[in-house]
Amino acid sequence: MRGAYGGPRVLLRRLREVMAEPVTAQERLDRIVVLIANNMVAEVCSVYVLRGGGDLELFATEGLNRTAVHATMMRKGEGLVGLVADEAEPVNLSDAQSHPSFAYKPETGEEIYHSFLGVPILRSGNTLGVLVVQNKSHRTYSDEEIEALQTTAMVIAEMIASGELGGPEDPSLAGRRPSHAEGQPLSEGLGLGHVVLHEPRVVIKKLIAEDSAAELKRLEDALASLRTSLDKLIDQSEVARAGEHRDVLEAFRMFANDRGWGRRMQEAVLTGLTAEAAVERVQSDTRARMQRQTDPYLRERLHDLDDLANRLLRELVSPGKGMTAELTQLPENAIVVARSMGPAALLDYDRTRLRGLVLEEGSASSHVVIVARALGIAAVGQIANATGLVEGGDAIIVDGVSGDVHIRPTADVERSYIDKVRFRARKQEQYRALRDKPSKTKDGAEVALMLNAGLLVDLPHIVETGAAGIGLFRTELQFMVASSMPRTAAQQQLYRAVLDAADGKPVTFRTLDVGGDKILPYMRNEPEENPALGWRAIRLGLDRPALLRTQIRALLNAAGGRDLRIMFPMVASVSEFDEARALVRREHARLVRHGHPLPSSLQLGVMIEVPSLLFQLDEILARADFVSVGSNDLMQFLFAVDRGNARVSTRFDPLSPGFLRALQRIAQKAGETGTPVTLCGEIGSRPLEAMALIGVGYRSLSMSPASIGPVKAALLDVDAAELAAFVEPLLARSDGAHSIRAELKAFAAKRGLQVEP
Ligand code: PEP
Ligand code: MG
Repeated sequence: MRGAYGGPRVLLRRLREVMAEPVTAQERLDRIVVLIANNMVAEVCSVYVLRGGGDLELFATEGLNRTAVHATMMRKGEGLVGLVADEAEPVNLSDAQSHPSFAYKPETGEEIYHSFLGVPILRSGNTLGVLVVQNKSHRTYSDEEIEALQTTAMVIAEMIASGELGGPEDPSLAGRRPSHAEGQPLSEGLGLGHVVLHEPRVVIKKLIAEDSAAELKRLEDALASLRTSLDKLIDQSEVARAGEHRDVLEAFRMFANDRGWGRRMQEAVLTGLTAEAAVERVQSDTRARMQRQTDPYLRERLHDLDDLANRLLRELVSPGKGMTAELTQLPENAIVVARSMGPAALLDYDRTRLRGLVLEEGSASSHVVIVARALGIAAVGQIANATGLVEGGDAIIVDGVSGDVHIRPTADVERSYIDKVRFRARKQEQYRALRDKPSKTKDGAEVALMLNAGLLVDLPHIVETGAAGIGLFRTELQFMVASSMPRTAAQQQLYRAVLDAADGKPVTFRTLDVGGDKILPYMRNEPEENPALGWRAIRLGLDRPALLRTQIRALLNAAGGRDLRIMFPMVASVSEFDEARALVRREHARLVRHGHPLPSSLQLGVMIEVPSLLFQLDEILARADFVSVGSNDLMQFLFAVDRGNARVSTRFDPLSPGFLRALQRIAQKAGETGTPVTLCGEIGSRPLEAMALIGVGYRSLSMSPASIGPVKAALLDVDAAELAAFVEPLLARSDGAHSIRAELKAFAAKRGLQVEP
């Protein structure tokens, strides 16, 4: 059924006129509701705006009692208006009063209206309010009318989001109010700053079209150009350059050719919107659907469609730019907010301005998170609809310790975080002051504090922390952040840069530790039932010697004229080490034959991280030049707890007598044979655990850069002999206690040791 004044196109034309009138926002809204009521021949048209706390406030009405404006409040979920807000979907009823959600508000005088059409006022998938029309007669509103009302709701959404309705200072309007979300802490640190959307949203300035035919043509052209560039990307396999997965691009192509999507946008243009507004109008529906979708596969596809809509918007605003990400100038203290992103993309940002990362997805082992940790920026993941909750430039706080994200924080929250940041900075200052102090306990035991590293961005930490060297260089990180297999030359270049940065300090390179949770996107990998116990690390290296050989060659070449230390991960049997060592020797001999420069010394070591090696210690220590304990994996395999499964990973305490006895045995045996031993798992990064390790005999620990200061501060104040004497009887205990943590804490507290980082 058509409205009396010519339907949606006329409505939009009138809207444009009203928007141009020099009146206040409230007056404009009052005129808009009259306009809609007239256009749709409805007795009532009302606008409800979502306030902080979830109330829906009547902001304007034609037909209802005007004294109810700014007085009537509906809870989100209350009444039909609340239902629309909750479901973010239109509700169209010819007999509203018989609907179970109908709630009567006497002050409005709405008891006489039977039909009801309510549409959500949406922006980026967030509900900002509800727009309603009502009639006395039993009437079913047509699809065209629903469409027209949704389009008008878009215009009102812009008025709400711009702050003009409540005044820019009114923080309680839903879209702009402070909000808080709790996610998963992924990289430690605190980041205070302003939002930079990784996929910036295009700000649409003009919603209503002047010439619909021209807008249709713009839409068609933009779609066609998007399709062409997608085809090109896929055909030329430029996938790597774009940093995207082929299957995502394939999904894009499928949607770009989807008739339904194209048609919905065309229909929106035909109601009188500009091409951009039409894309956003349809995108808003997609986003609302996305938030309700629980099936992970379908959600993912809706995300793809949303991404594609963003690109189409970019294409409309800057033709030819749809598929190329734009790199904007970062503000000071940038907090990047993204649905998900690749590691290389994060490295593209100016790291001097980058303070934090917020992801809708992301887990501790995702590659972008590994990079965030290496860059030392706070990161939080699993924040649902993060990109929809913020606008570029919004103030935001990321707490990578607790997982909290504060969007547009209140002054109180901001102040408390500024204090926290100051406190951390003071601590850092204290740690920096320790940098050049010899790393010795009170009774003179030297404890070498080394770095765990893996990327170029880690290298400045050697100088910054005053570390004794790199105890673990995880070579797989270069492979994980790349979009294709790094060639020998690239590997060699990185290893050389590492040795240059170490400037004579020892560096221990670990050969590729891939497989398990470290998946290379470009390498075919067969799904395994238990990847942690599967075909990974040295197993893969020995079965595919070409890969290992290439890496060994790159290492030997990079270390010409310098000392080289290489160790092998996940060795479970002495014979594996023998085999790996033979491979290195063959490569070394080859260099000799060809007269290439040789490393001045070559030491080969083994990671002790598979429990079977605990029973081959004599044999392994007789062969290896050094050993390094991988306590992360050793703990995982000794206790049979998946280190990546949050449900069980903290179930057992590494400070348990059983685990510490195993570590003590390794240190003792290594000491007896004069084999240097380091521990390079995460436990060395925590001051209390580090004290226990010193107590059971370790004199070399390798850890994350941020831990060097706290661990050093603690060990400078401790007496190693006293620690050993304290720990020994606790390990000999037979009372079945599962941990000695409490005793160690009491020991530290009594001596005033700083063991909380
Ligand atoms: C370990 O297992 O303790 C270790 C240092 O190696 P990764 O964490 O890389 O497996
Ligand atoms: Mg390991």
